[in-house]
Amino acid sequence: MIKTVFLDIDNTLWWFSRNSDKALHDTWLITGCDGWCYDYKHFHDTYESINLELWHRYSQGLVEKPVLEVRRFAHTLAACGFDGDSEQLGRRMNTIYLEQLVRHDELVPGALELLEYLHGKGYELNVLSNGFKGVQEKKLEAGGMKRYITHVILSEDCGVTKPRPGIYEYATAQCGCVPSETVMIGDDPVTDIPGAVNAGWLTIYLNMSGTACPAAHHTVNSLLEIKEIL
Ligand SMILES: [Mg+2]
Repeated sequence: MIKTVFLDIDNTLWWFSRNSDKALHDTWLITGCDGWCYDYKHFHDTYESINLELWHRYSQGLVEKPVLEVRRFAHTLAACGFDGDSEQLGRRMNTIYLEQLVRHDELVPGALELLEYLHGKGYELNVLSNGFKGVQEKKLEAGGMKRYITHVILSEDCGVTKPRPGIYEYATAQCGCVPSETVMIGDDPVTDIPGAVNAGWLTIYLNMSGTACPAAHHTVNSLLEIKEIL
């Protein structure tokens, strides 16, 4: 019998891709990039590809957070032909981007309704995220989700990122729950599901991208479908 629910934050509850697109555009304007880079779509697509690659390496423990934060912007600037100090502007862009990011609060459709439903059914609701400390809490607050969440478990506190072994044991120890009574809900077929399966948790994969995840116990295409499972 499931008693504890862990939810991923980005693109599971908080609509990261939507909010990030807005924050990136804000950052581009605030830092005056529109004065030398006339093709925003090129800048956006370059950033997305560099950032994605760095996040894959971050979740594997191959790159440190401070490096990821600066490099994603510095490399984008260099690739787009910026002729100044890419590292210096990259650092400033990262600060502004993170400030702008939490000003946007679009949630994945059904997020609040699902949290309210699960909370009402008596499950303990926790989040388990590789996102940055200080930023993740603000996302939960901005979206009005904080009141449903008992424990915020972040890879930065644990020292190990999903899907690597160690974070699931850390999470159950922090929350005092049992693996066989625990479920993980997340949108990433690599970072959210296989590691939780290996830790003995039930898993629900939110497939928003069209990528199958055969390892998941359940797959849903929208958050509210989870009401039929829990
Ligand atoms: Mg996610």
